[in-house]
Amino acid sequence: MKILVLNAGSSTQKSCLYELNDAVPDSPLSPLWKATVDWSHHQEFAKIKVETASGEQLEEELQTNSRPDVIAYMLDTLWQGKTQVIANIDEINVVGHRVVHGGEKYRDATIITPEVKEAIKNLCVLAPAHNPANLQGIEAIEKLLPIIPQVAVFDTAFHSQLPLAAAVYPIPYYLFEQGIRRYGFHGISHEYCAKKTAQLLNRDLASLRLITCHLGNGCSLAAIRNGHSIDTTMGFTPLEGLMMGTRSGSVDPGILIHLLRQQEINVNKLDEILNRESGLKGISGLSGDMREIMIAIEKGNLRAKLAFDIFVHSLCRNIGAMLASLGGLDALIFTGGIGENSQDVRALVCEAFEFINVKIDRDKNAKSPVDCDISLANAKVRVLIVHTEEDWQIATECWKLMRVMKSEFGQA
Ligand code: ADP
Repeated sequence: MKILVLNAGSSTQKSCLYELNDAVPDSPLSPLWKATVDWSHHQEFAKIKVETASGEQLEEELQTNSRPDVIAYMLDTLWQGKTQVIANIDEINVVGHRVVHGGEKYRDATIITPEVKEAIKNLCVLAPAHNPANLQGIEAIEKLLPIIPQVAVFDTAFHSQLPLAAAVYPIPYYLFEQGIRRYGFHGISHEYCAKKTAQLLNRDLASLRLITCHLGNGCSLAAIRNGHSIDTTMGFTPLEGLMMGTRSGSVDPGILIHLLRQQEINVNKLDEILNRESGLKGISGLSGDMREIMIAIEKGNLRAKLAFDIFVHSLCRNIGAMLASLGGLDALIFTGGIGENSQDVRALVCEAFEFINVKIDRDKNAKSPVDCDISLANAKVRVLIVHTEEDWQIATECWKLMRVMKSEFGQA
């Protein structure tokens, strides 16, 4: 089965083609083809990078900010030119989309119907940077591949079983009835990492209490018991919780009221401040990129050091909160660009949790080995670095859904 995955971010569009036949293997397969489109340097110019399993590469720049045009152009490289990996477009059996917000209704991977599209559209108001991009991807594929099934895999789905005590905010109850609740995000990554951890530890996922730390540009934690997320740091939007690259994470809501009362701060400006001018960038005044923060610290920049210290503090206090929700811990998992690569962040967090018997092998930690247990043999809590594979997780969800449909169709 050839599965095309589309993963749309606010200023990127990633895509992979997998071939997955009889069973889902223990480790992710390499995609036959993968492409990334990046608008983050210049809104009018799309940088396209394509790579195939056989090592062919293509890099181009297109002068357009139209996502559907870029998707069509990007997909052409699947069956044309030096990056061609299929004879024609009809070889694709199913297309899976990462959809950031599935609201309360969508708790599993779902075949995209007009009703599902309408729901994704209605949820744009809750995920304005992502759901519209997801919808554009779905519509671009509808035009190119009108009869091929499309599947939505929701980032909120993994958190859909949060207990009410974790999901409901202590604000007037009618707001909860209007859909204002904790949804949680990064679910595809948290779920993948939880399963991978169980596999690496050779344990049944249902028997494990885990805290997964997804630390990328966006950062969130999930407390996982019985294979389900029972608490998580992101909330109604992906702004709550940990300090992030350019997002503030949780702040006293009284600050927002105070700022809105200031003459020059309107809602849009507040949005800009909290989502794009805060976090590592806001404190350091330099960048939201952890690598740049580390370089500045080495040069003696005190604001970069403060940004780093707040990041670690925010991470530790939130891990403490997840720990309390779980009532114990079998493994702490680091993933995402920072989680997988920053030995300093991992070392400081693990040091802070030595009191619950978190002990890591410092030499191992320094090498940032992925898909590896870096804890000492006598530690009670395992610590793992897991390379997140969201696209692979989406592909496996599509594969499973198609198998179910095929068997149901066969029985009909
Ligand atoms: P996204 O959330 O956009 O997918 P990533 O998961 O790629 O982002 O994470 C990006 C973050 O990872 C950036 O802050 C980047 O600086 C950080 N990062 C990447 N490599 C390293 C490294 N070697 N050391 C520290 N931070 C790193």
